Amino acid sequence: MSDFDFIIVGGGSAGCALARRLSDDPGLRVCLIEAGAKARNPAVHLPFGLAVIGLFNNLQWGYETAPQDQLRQRNLVWPRGRVLGGSSAVNAMIYSRGMRADYDGWAALGATGWDYASVLPYFRKAEANQRGGDDIHGADGLLPVSDLPDPNPLSRAFVEAGSQAQIPVTDDFNRGEDCEAIGIYQVTTRDGLRASAARAYLSPEVRARDNLTILTQTSVRQIVFEGRRATGVETGIAGRHAGQGAGDDRTQTLCAAREVLLSAGAINSPHLLMLSGIGPAEHLSSHGIDVVHDAPFVGQRLVDHLDVITQFTSRIGARGGLGFQWNVPARSLRWALQWLSRRGGTFASNVAEAGGFVKSDPSLDRPDIQFHFLPARMANHGRQLVWGYGYTLHACNLYPRSEGEIRLASADPAAPPIMDPRYLSDPDGHDMRVLMAALDWSRRILAAPAFDGYRGRELRPGAAVQTAEQIRDWVARTAETIYHPVGTVAMGAADDPRASLTPDLRVKGVRGLRVVDASVMPRLIGGNTNAPTIMIAEKAAEMILDAVRSGEKGPTP
Ligand SMILES: Cc1cc2nc3c(=O)[nH]c(=O)nc-3n(C[C@H](O)[C@H](O)[C@H](O)COP(=O)(O)OP(=O)(O)OC[C@H]3O[C@@H](n4cnc5c(N)ncnc54)[C@H](O)[C@@H]3O)c2cc1C
Repeated sequence: MSDFDFIIVGGGSAGCALARRLSDDPGLRVCLIEAGAKARNPAVHLPFGLAVIGLFNNLQWGYETAPQDQLRQRNLVWPRGRVLGGSSAVNAMIYSRGMRADYDGWAALGATGWDYASVLPYFRKAEANQRGGDDIHGADGLLPVSDLPDPNPLSRAFVEAGSQAQIPVTDDFNRGEDCEAIGIYQVTTRDGLRASAARAYLSPEVRARDNLTILTQTSVRQIVFEGRRATGVETGIAGRHAGQGAGDDRTQTLCAAREVLLSAGAINSPHLLMLSGIGPAEHLSSHGIDVVHDAPFVGQRLVDHLDVITQFTSRIGARGGLGFQWNVPARSLRWALQWLSRRGGTFASNVAEAGGFVKSDPSLDRPDIQFHFLPARMANHGRQLVWGYGYTLHACNLYPRSEGEIRLASADPAAPPIMDPRYLSDPDGHDMRVLMAALDWSRRILAAPAFDGYRGRELRPGAAVQTAEQIRDWVARTAETIYHPVGTVAMGAADDPRASLTPDLRVKGVRGLRVVDASVMPRLIGGNTNAPTIMIAEKAAEMILDAVRSGEKGPTP
């Protein structure tokens, strides 16, 4: 007798959505296992908490990349949520789907059934847009999508500046096309509170379901196989951080009658597969791991959005943005009253309020640069408080050609894997060129008249950085992630050796095991990755439930 029908590993964006949809069927016993705790910290729930969330180590995995050859050997900080809700509990809440051509590109790569027309119904199914539904947007889903109640005047200035720089203005980036535009983002919040996947999909009533077990502060150490069939997972009690020991030696095996569903994210899903014997055979053997299935591309094809940051001081003090200053207590009191009285004001802000999409080269078929504008001076992913007022513009390369990998540092499940995105390693220098164009665009927008009343000193890159050589050097010294690693367990055609999964997300070469999270994306999308990951979970849940309804008893070949 198995403990559960389905075991979901990882309670993040995908895992929470999957747990909800599968447990909608009262005949299925579902278990969701999350390494982190339930999110009790107000910084998670209050959107403006994003400004300080990086200070709380207990909400994150504390990951860093390997030294990056093209980035002056820097180890980049890679924030990832370790809490029920996963990265959706620590992210910037921007609701962004990517573009039609992204999904058509997935299908062209062999991910049959993932073209734009096929995924659109799942974006709509997930979405509860405050503006109501139409043929593109959904109104009746579980993921709240809202307009920011009170965008900061600086964010409005950014949109006006973009318009002055000849970029069209939009109030909807998510129509699949025509997103070469600038505007205020819609956000995944409701009533002034963050809608993490945990809050959106696992309401108290759902959490209380008899057929849903949610284990928090429980780490999966490996997938258990009988031959080539995944039959369950081995868990341990989570330590405070990966790399700081498992915290407890007690382990437990939980059994899944139907399937194990890996939703541990683009770093931990390939890590767990490799720990469990699915990955490049030689690499696994070199760590003393018995090979269940030689899967050369598990952990490979890692891509991420690399980002350059332009920052100015604002010369009109408190009216010129959000900042830490002597008057923070008084302003916070006002913000608290605004939030309590109408769930609006600064506390309802996701900080990264505005943005847009432009092309590095006008001949491109779609934008390849995305902006995130913050009416504040944040530093080091919010892990450091900055004194003073100002504004910051992030600009990232949406379609990198550099590919990296996740590989094992050790066979010990408590040791983090090596994360090596190999940023800017593409041989023809495409990724560097796009980032140089991104800086050029950023400076052009921030020089527009709309900022004349605010503009202080250019802190980053700074007036001294002007020539192509200086800019290249500055990119190498300062570029950072904008948090969208994907592709490490990519789906694709059954006969494509670079695809680790078939298009129904089953792991090739074994039975009873699927991956459902951001790792499955065969290529990065042109936008933020939370909504696409939730779309993947919605579509996966339907495929899995269809298989159950069609009479599939246990794992299929
Ligand atoms: C700081 C930040 C800002 C971002 N901003 C945005 C944004 O504004 N908009 C947007 O669309 N996207 C944004 N993203 C990206 C987006 O949030 C992620 O792409 C998305 O959440 C990934 O979902 P996932 O399900 O693949 O992984 P995650 O949500 O990371 O979930 C994985 C879960 O698995 C758990 N887990 C891992 N290993 C184990 C194990 N061994 N045992 C048990 N549990 C385990 C983790 O603790 C985690 O909860 C941001 C991300 C970050 C980090």
